[in-house]
Amino acid sequence: MYYEDTIAAISTPLGRGGIGIVRMSGPEVIGIGDRVFISRRGRKLSKIEPWKLSLGHIYDKELNRRIDEVLSVYMPAPHTYTREDVMEVNCHSGLVVLDRILQLFLREGARLAEPGEFTRRAFLNGRIDLSQAEAVLEVVDSKTTRALEGAIGRLSGKASEALSEVKEALVQELVAVEATIDFAEEDIPLHDGPDVVTALELVCKRVRGMVREGEVERIYSEGILLAIVGAPNVGKSSLFNALLEEDRAIVTEVPGTTSDVIQEYLSVEGIPVKIADTAGIRKPKREIEAHGVERSLRAIRESEVVLLVMDGSTEPSPEDIELFKRVDVKKLVLVANKRDLGVAESARSWCEGQRGIQVVYTSAINGGGIEELGAAIKGKVMSWAGGDQGPYNIGNSRQIAVLERALRDIEASIHAARGRGGMEIVAFFLREAIGDLSEVGGSELSEKIIDEIFTRFCVGK
Ligand code: GDP
Repeated sequence: MYYEDTIAAISTPLGRGGIGIVRMSGPEVIGIGDRVFISRRGRKLSKIEPWKLSLGHIYDKELNRRIDEVLSVYMPAPHTYTREDVMEVNCHSGLVVLDRILQLFLREGARLAEPGEFTRRAFLNGRIDLSQAEAVLEVVDSKTTRALEGAIGRLSGKASEALSEVKEALVQELVAVEATIDFAEEDIPLHDGPDVVTALELVCKRVRGMVREGEVERIYSEGILLAIVGAPNVGKSSLFNALLEEDRAIVTEVPGTTSDVIQEYLSVEGIPVKIADTAGIRKPKREIEAHGVERSLRAIRESEVVLLVMDGSTEPSPEDIELFKRVDVKKLVLVANKRDLGVAESARSWCEGQRGIQVVYTSAINGGGIEELGAAIKGKVMSWAGGDQGPYNIGNSRQIAVLERALRDIEASIHAARGRGGMEIVAFFLREAIGDLSEVGGSELSEKIIDEIFTRFCVGK
């Protein structure tokens, strides 16, 4: 499916910078490009060598003005991002420059691209499948190096590859099952119930593994919410700062990161960690903790991991014990801070007395135990997912949901096969499962779901 209109957008973040890129894709690229670009040697876009940057100017004929000195490249279809003709203009990055070039493209016949429309065309023109399109977004949104590694693998199509293996195995079983239905009357040995069950159980195991792997990747891509709670003055803010120091790969949602920008995530062993209730942690000095407990309780409820911090150099306070009772043990890591002052025996025996709870002794002041604390947070998170040997091929909630649906259908077919005689039912659920898996690559998806995915992109991608 190829489009008749030509789209254009600014593909780099808007603002002052070294280079900005305005991109155009579609059948009119050459026509528009020839009207707005002139190389230093006086050549039009159609006369410059494809795939090579050419120095020249963007020129507004109506106003008889040069807009900017630029490097332009013309990339002819079909070996381009969108599989259409593409022109990219590397100009100076300034709001006015970028906007004037874009406006010129629009005036000459291009249409402003919708969010993610370049990638959408790449998908609809068959260059990438939907899981790869999602990986584009995952790469852009990666908050840590580990998240990026997973996303890059999926960008090259690993999710679909892994799923097509599973699909292949299901198709084989379906063929065998359908043969038993078609030749049931004849006296030839056929794949029967027990064979089908054994084969499908293997597939089931693999799919369950993939769901688990997907959960791990989702943790890396979406991150977790962490609460740091405890009585006043036990060292919560200091610990937060110590974690910041330890994990330098801090990510912010704001481009052009500087230390005065709000830091959104910590990277704890590659896991993006968002702190719940930073107001309670980043309090200005001397602020009295108003509504401290209420706020802690909310943070505890919302978070996936809770660090309950206490002053390990003294005996546990009633507030420590009260908070301890309020935290779900599955989420809890106990932190006995101020170990540089010596750990009090009463604190140690209370902490160690809590069975099955991990205790980390730290000093926020000298950094002691902070690495172990990072490992404890990761351990807690990965304990739900069953460990991490990744990066893996399944990477987001949509793909996990599809796999879970397929899993239910495969289980239903196993159930039917165990019951014997119900081979039509076995075949029905196998067909359903195969259909489910096709959704991951996007070959069988409604326009609405595709819309939902692409509107998460920025304009220009
Ligand atoms: P919060 O109220 O729980 O956030 O506690 P703060 O982080 O503001 O720390 C309270 C006081 O304890 C400050 O004076 C910190 O310097 C001190 N403090 C925090 N962590 C440690 C530690 O590990 N060892 C020592 N000796 N003092 C600490």
